[in-house]
Amino acid sequence: MALPINIEAIRKDFPILDQQVNGKPLIYFDNAATTQKPQTVIDALNHYYQNDNANIHRGIHALAERATSAYENTRKKIAQFINSPDASQVILTSGTTGGINLVAQTFGRAFIQKGDQLLISNLEHHSNIVPWQMIAAEKGAEIKVIPVLDNGELDLEAYKNLLTEKVKLVAVNHVSNAIGTINPIEEMIQLAHQVGAKILIDGAQSVAHFEIDVQALDIDFLAFSAHKLFGPTGVGVLYGKKDLLESMPPYQGGGEMIKEVSFDGTTYNELPYKFEAGTPNIADVIAFGASFDYLASLPKNIIWEQEKALLDYATNKLQAVDGLRIIGQAKQKIAVISFLIDGIHPQDIGVLLDKYGIAIRTGHHCAQPLMKRFDIVGTCRASFAFYNTVDEIDSFVASLQKVVNMLK
Ligand code: PMP
Repeated sequence: MALPINIEAIRKDFPILDQQVNGKPLIYFDNAATTQKPQTVIDALNHYYQNDNANIHRGIHALAERATSAYENTRKKIAQFINSPDASQVILTSGTTGGINLVAQTFGRAFIQKGDQLLISNLEHHSNIVPWQMIAAEKGAEIKVIPVLDNGELDLEAYKNLLTEKVKLVAVNHVSNAIGTINPIEEMIQLAHQVGAKILIDGAQSVAHFEIDVQALDIDFLAFSAHKLFGPTGVGVLYGKKDLLESMPPYQGGGEMIKEVSFDGTTYNELPYKFEAGTPNIADVIAFGASFDYLASLPKNIIWEQEKALLDYATNKLQAVDGLRIIGQAKQKIAVISFLIDGIHPQDIGVLLDKYGIAIRTGHHCAQPLMKRFDIVGTCRASFAFYNTVDEIDSFVASLQKVVNMLK
């Protein structure tokens, strides 16, 4: 099968892909856990430490100015990438988890009261469950859960019924990391707004696959991680509407987030610094900037088209593997295939595939309530990125069949 572009040239941008694991060429199908990094991102990280390393914002010397300008440049690129009206609405965090906790602890502290409801879904990653449980317990609020249908889609009729004026915040992922479902967030956002609720979108699994325009979608909060967008670990983004961010108290106290400190009281800095206490992850934020340059250098829509082709091809090919069942068959999916093989534990499959140089993920994928919904303990998950190939899928399916024969 021909894919939309010649991927061999593009694969060379990702040096890690060119290696042997257990004597076999690496096949990296764990992209939903983290994506690989192009050479330009790796170079940007080295460049910073070799040339510009300095603390940002306070220094007046040349290095501090260079580091500050590169750091703030990344913020501008992020703002452009998600179409934020202003770069000050882009808060740099440690990751999706960091951003969700920030909203839970600040929006939650200020606006959630006893008897209020928080609405999440049965598809969520633990990062979009536990922070809400923590603030709900503190405030005496209640958590309600949007159910999942048998095919892995959210039950939108149930969502409509759950949306009442008691709901102060809806927190849902755009895309499920465990089974790949793409949620109809445009409609979900409109419905939430109709009852006066705010909505947080966990974009961890969506930003790397398709464009998100926070203004067109009318998103209140969007959280995502750099490392799933071909950038470094330890960096994330929280976008928020300006009036909301301004109305929320600061998160952590410390340097950078203040205007003035005295023992009589402290005044807080303006956005985005109010939410960025302490020395941030300067080097990785700067390297993250190179991810956007890299993405901009790719042919338009190539990521989505390539991944869609890989998903369709692999879904088809896997049908031939004995006893294989795909969990999550939503009509709209990203290139994630969660599967089980009758009578074989997912971990055994993962361990043996590694012997063939194939990296997949096994387990509950930090989505235990979703596993419970399907009455399973975990799955095998193969997740593709645009740099994967049809040949890799052929090798994966052939090796999987061998593994199944061995274990049966
Ligand atoms: N939400 C979803 C849907 C995810 O896939 C992940 C990462 N697996 C997270 C949240 C958490 O992201 P991070 O660990 O980068 O904070």
